[in-house]
Amino acid sequence: MQPLPDGIGREDGIVFFNNDAAELAEMRRAEAWREGWDGLADVWREMRDNAEQQMLELYPHEVAILHLRLLELGSAVGSMLFVHHTYLLCTTPEFAGVDWILCVLSCLRLVFFVPRLRAFFKYHALFREARNQPTPQLLRRKLRIAMAWKPLGHKFWCISYCSWLCLVPCLWYYGNRTGFSSRVLANWRLSLSWFILSPVVSLGILFCLRRWIKLDRGMTEARLKASTTVVKFKPPWTGFGSAECGVCLAEYEEGEAIRMLPCGHHFHTKCVDVWLQKYLNRCPFCQAIIDQPSDTPTSKED
Ligand SMILES: [Zn+2]
Ligand SMILES: [Zn+2]
Repeated sequence: MQPLPDGIGREDGIVFFNNDAAELAEMRRAEAWREGWDGLADVWREMRDNAEQQMLELYPHEVAILHLRLLELGSAVGSMLFVHHTYLLCTTPEFAGVDWILCVLSCLRLVFFVPRLRAFFKYHALFREARNQPTPQLLRRKLRIAMAWKPLGHKFWCISYCSWLCLVPCLWYYGNRTGFSSRVLANWRLSLSWFILSPVVSLGILFCLRRWIKLDRGMTEARLKASTTVVKFKPPWTGFGSAECGVCLAEYEEGEAIRMLPCGHHFHTKCVDVWLQKYLNRCPFCQAIIDQPSDTPTSKED
């Protein structure tokens, strides 16, 4: 059965409109149970995609940093395992029985490491580019591009890696246990540990970022200067509205620096700059985005 479009519900064969997203999600889960594993897989994918989208909307800076740190850690662990695997192959004097199958699998792992390393550099460059964007809207856009990118044959790598994870303990258990098979199993244990621990490490990094690290979430100073103007106040006031700051509500005094936003609203630079750079690049009054990307459609991105 096709998944239901947003805003439409169905129960016992009756289709009806339903605007309550939570109720709709609950109904989909119930429907999935009825349809079996295929339906459950759809629900799981939908929940994962929704969680990713929400993370991207709420914490784009954390998502970018998290991916960068995970990529770095993952490549460090992968390199260690690569070196260990090479060492095992080079220092084993002779192979016996099941060792030959393990040897072929180990060689394949070493060969696949090269394209994986190339993919790491590409991913890292994409996330670093996203992290360096001057506004949160541009950051989200670049993050979506980075997260959607997949290296050539990435499904094949995933299947190969999972097959390796399944085959090594089986061969070790059912084959004749040799020194080589036991050493490969040690490598397998390390690989499996990283496979299981990486989600825990992700949560740890996210927790640290949210708890202890203050990130600038607004726009860079250069983009602020490029997209707004600063004037020295001199009566009589000829700008939009009255001659007072919308943040501190004080009237402007002669010589004070006033930041004029593209939407027409104006504030003391000392009052509004902190907001625009540290928190959000939106006018505190009308919520208009300052420095909207030029090729973005007119609809709001966030
Ligand atoms: Zn002010
Ligand atoms: Zn405004």
